[in-house]
Amino acid sequence: MTDSNQGDSVNIGGIAGLTPNVGAHLSLEDVYQQIRTTFLRHHPNGDAELLDNAFKTGRAMHVNQYRKSGEPYFFHPLAVAKFLAEWRLDAVSVACGLLHDTVEDTLMTNSEVQRQFGTEMAEIVDGLTKMSKLDFTDQTMLNAENVRKLLVAMDKDVRVLLVKLADRLHNMRTLSSFQEEKRRRIARETRELYAPLANRLGMSLVRAELEDLAFANLDPESYIEMRQIMDLKRQRSAAVIEEIRKTILLALREQGIVAEIFFRIKHLYSIWKKMGAQQKGIEDIYDWLAYRVICPDRASCYTALGLIHALYKPIPGRFKDYISLPKDNGYQSIHTSVMMTSGESFEIQFRTQDMDDYAEVGIASHWTYKDGRLANRQEINQASFLRRMVTLYKESRDSRDLVANLKGELKFQQIQVFTPKGDLRSLPENATPVDFAYAIHTDVGHHCVGAKVNGCIVSLRHVLKNGDRVEILTRADRKPSRNWLSFVASARAKTKIQTFIREEQRAIAISSGKERFEREARFFEIKLNSAELRLAMKARLKDLKFPSWEAFYASIGFNRVGPRLLLDPFIPKTKKVRAEEAPAIGLNTILVDDNAGILYVLASCCKPVWGDEIVGYTTRGRGISVHRAHCPHLALSAPDPECIVSVVWGKASKAVFNTELIVNTDDRHGMVAAISAAVQNSGFSLQRFSGGINDRSGGVFYMALRVKDRDNLVELIGTIRKIKGVFTVERVRGSYFGNLNSN
Ligand code: MN
Repeated sequence: MTDSNQGDSVNIGGIAGLTPNVGAHLSLEDVYQQIRTTFLRHHPNGDAELLDNAFKTGRAMHVNQYRKSGEPYFFHPLAVAKFLAEWRLDAVSVACGLLHDTVEDTLMTNSEVQRQFGTEMAEIVDGLTKMSKLDFTDQTMLNAENVRKLLVAMDKDVRVLLVKLADRLHNMRTLSSFQEEKRRRIARETRELYAPLANRLGMSLVRAELEDLAFANLDPESYIEMRQIMDLKRQRSAAVIEEIRKTILLALREQGIVAEIFFRIKHLYSIWKKMGAQQKGIEDIYDWLAYRVICPDRASCYTALGLIHALYKPIPGRFKDYISLPKDNGYQSIHTSVMMTSGESFEIQFRTQDMDDYAEVGIASHWTYKDGRLANRQEINQASFLRRMVTLYKESRDSRDLVANLKGELKFQQIQVFTPKGDLRSLPENATPVDFAYAIHTDVGHHCVGAKVNGCIVSLRHVLKNGDRVEILTRADRKPSRNWLSFVASARAKTKIQTFIREEQRAIAISSGKERFEREARFFEIKLNSAELRLAMKARLKDLKFPSWEAFYASIGFNRVGPRLLLDPFIPKTKKVRAEEAPAIGLNTILVDDNAGILYVLASCCKPVWGDEIVGYTTRGRGISVHRAHCPHLALSAPDPECIVSVVWGKASKAVFNTELIVNTDDRHGMVAAISAAVQNSGFSLQRFSGGINDRSGGVFYMALRVKDRDNLVELIGTIRKIKGVFTVERVRGSYFGNLNSN
């Protein structure tokens, strides 16, 4: 920390990808010696021998392999290990960096890693190998599978994530050797998943660089423009910046505080995003410059803050004390923004050297002094985020839910609220009392009926603010409503509610399935209480691959199978003449079937197709309107929970179903023709088609079409995805075209 530009370490030399590689002018051995030195600087008694062995093994395994740029492949693992050493990680992590691609790309097997380096390292390398062994054909599933594998591996050892971040950082720096399409895909995944993960782990420098590199690849024009503007702004203000620095330094010194002051330009992507969000021009962005005052101790941070507020006018609402209330990721610092007489303004942060070290490498600092042992509250908070992610993965049965929930978890800023006893809980921004209730305990969440915020009764959808004191009111007979999904913000609450609803639906399906089964058995005069018969049935159940009676009843309840699947061999011959089994309806479940005599309409806001997970809403006069389970319109219109009914599809009818797709593409020409040809060739008829340009200047197309059922639709989505230049194909969550004439 000697260079006054230290904070500018997001150092992108030219367009991302053109950055000189780590080994451009050094030998493998030279680079390795740098890593070794860095490692020993942070861990004077560290296991350097482990590193030496990993280096020798890795170099031998990757011998004669070259990257697309022509340099020896092993420079890549070296670069990864170099990051890990710079983040002050332990010997195991750095050694894993050196070996991370051996199992994937060389003849080395995981059991060899285990034999030579032990179980700990073998598990980390294995986690990384599994993550990279992914098929790149389907983008959404790639994300889902990647996330799942990352979480599984992280559950065992969080260092998997740290090595992966280092790997991704180097890949992003050297992205130019990939084709445009692959480059954009990696860049988008980086922006959506890895940069937010780095942020949540408190690794602010890594996050900043990942975001800027993704920015440069996804929107090169804006990136270059931003760079030029910021360079100019910085040159123009150079004298003023230095003057302010000296003024502050002097003021502190007069009070006997020996501080260091650095300044940095905030990273380009964050400035650019702010401009977009606030519809501001570059002149109006006042937060581009930030000073950082490193104070000798905690108390002098507050003294320094007071001095600055006496020197310059603070901007109201911009003061944040993350020293008393650390961020969820452990970050500590005091922030304020001040205005000068000239009208220019800047941000200024106060923290101690320890806090500053932490702010740069975040969670990685665990391994510096404490060897992975959890010691203080910020570290535990930090671990709690990791724990939340792992629970999330364990409780989400559907990987699409998992990814959606995780993205939600990563996207938001955190707020902190107090329990009645004065403990702190971190929640995402826009969290409600329901989120808070689930953060306390699952049972509190399941039974909450209302809340008091700072002593006043509020509704369950009330949005909490930083520093609120929240008390939850519960009632034993209350249970979660599907409705809550429309307003909860935390992934934890979402997952818990989804799980509850799924289990409740399953319980209903089991009881209605059992009832149907027994009714059917009575009809055929089969004596279910005969122990002998019961045994025979159990054997048949096993042959039919049902793990339990419950599973079988649930399948009947969900209308996946009929009771006769099991009963048939036990029906006396004389009874077999009975006519086709009529569709029976469960106690609480309503069958969506043209022959069942129930009045229903398919909601035009979300257009369910046969096979979708659905939910019914009883209306006056039009019978039951059938929505997709996660219809945003239904969620937003805050329907009466009493009117929600459980519905399942009846027999597949011959009808066709209206549905809509949204397709995001590269800005390639001929996209309209390619897509409509693919649709027509697959035998679907396009009802409507509309195209435009999305916010990343790619193409976006909406189409309305008719399909037979969900499988049919999934097949079509697969076909469109295969078109070159297509990034994503998704069903429109609600409806783009609205109510089409469905004759
Ligand atoms: Mn790699």
